[in-house]
Amino acid sequence: MKKTISKTQAQEEIQEFFKEIGRKTPKEIKKMRKLAMAHKIPLKDKKNLFCKKCLIPHENPKIRIKKGIKSIICNECGTINRKKIN
Ligand SMILES: [Zn+2]
Repeated sequence: MKKTISKTQAQEEIQEFFKEIGRKTPKEIKKMRKLAMAHKIPLKDKKNLFCKKCLIPHENPKIRIKKGIKSIICNECGTINRKKIN
């Protein structure tokens, strides 16, 4: 049986998920991302809460801001997650 949920439900689920992002595993984050994509829900700033490469939630990450670019360096794999800020 395939479990289908509405967009509102998916949004709520994602909202709940990010409340405890620090305790999530990369596997769970991957699943959540899939859910967001399936329902076309933009994660926006929430994306900065985990590493785009290893999907591990950022814990006390090194953050550098330079020329309007915010760089979050992953403690786990060293990947620099960059984001434009205004
Ligand atoms: Zn990483």
